[in-house]
Amino acid sequence: MTLITRRKFLTAAAVTTGATALSAIPMVAGAKELNKNLKWDKDYDVVVIGYGGAGAAAAIAAHDGGAKVLIVEKMSEGGGNTAVSSGGYICTDDPEKAKVYFKNLFKYANSEMDEEQVDIFANECINLTKYVDSLKDGLEQYVYGYAGFQSIEGSESIRKFRVKGKKRGGDNLFDAYKYAVEEKRKIDVRLNTPAKDLIRNCDGEIVGVTIVTNGKEENICARKAVVLTTGQGGIKLC
Ligand SMILES: Cc1cc2nc3c(=O)[nH]c(=O)nc-3n(C[C@H](O)[C@H](O)[C@H](O)COP(=O)(O)OP(=O)(O)OC[C@H]3O[C@@H](n4cnc5c(N)ncnc54)[C@H](O)[C@@H]3O)c2cc1C
Repeated sequence: MTLITRRKFLTAAAVTTGATALSAIPMVAGAKELNKNLKWDKDYDVVVIGYGGAGAAAAIAAHDGGAKVLIVEKMSEGGGNTAVSSGGYICTDDPEKAKVYFKNLFKYANSEMDEEQVDIFANECINLTKYVDSLKDGLEQYVYGYAGFQSIEGSESIRKFRVKGKKRGGDNLFDAYKYAVEEKRKIDVRLNTPAKDLIRNCDGEIVGVTIVTNGKEENICARKAVVLTTGQGGIKLC
């Protein structure tokens, strides 16, 4: 087993829902070696593995940065946990106060904190409603709640938002992602397609991925990055 980090992994620092943005995404996996017998079936700049909120956001960012992108999803539809979640995300209009609140929350919970990550989250979540707006024209968002711990300093800076829609919560958010990926950008999405192996060159860089559709394996070259956004799942590699 190898510990995979950047380029070797560009992990999606994508903002999906608050919990995702705050959680580190350590990925432990092995990889098969690129060798002269291995043939590429297709090539992309970026291959995103897992089509939940993080995968959709990563694919959008890569596409908008000029990359040719493929998303592979093992299930028959995208959404993952994102679509069955409550779909709430935190936005603040005062990152400095939000930082105080988040840091106090960690202390209150007696939890280990990555201060840099919390600072990034607080600074970026000011843009979150604008980002969600950009997914689809005419999309409506609403405030459905406030800080969970009102007595903690900085709590007044926290608002919790959701996307309005006919469904329950996260599925409204994922519908917006799906529109942004499939309709607005026409990014290639392969459903019912688990990623099976990562492919590593002799320098140890991840340069592709083996995917499986209807039992048939294909080797996909990823010229720039493979992004792992498999949520709680992942790739089981030998
Ligand atoms: C009931 C519930 C309510 C929640 N409410 C909230 C909330 O209000 N706010 C909040 O911030 N968080 C909430 N969460 C947590 C939130 O849903 C997750 O943190 C977030 O959805 C994770 O997004 P993701 O894109 O990382 O993973 P996911 O959305 O789970 O996407 C991962 C995708 O990867 C696919 N995949 C896995 N392995 C492979 C493979 N080998 N090949 C191809 N595809 C693969 C999966 O099928 C899945 O579609 C809630 C969770 C639950 C369960």
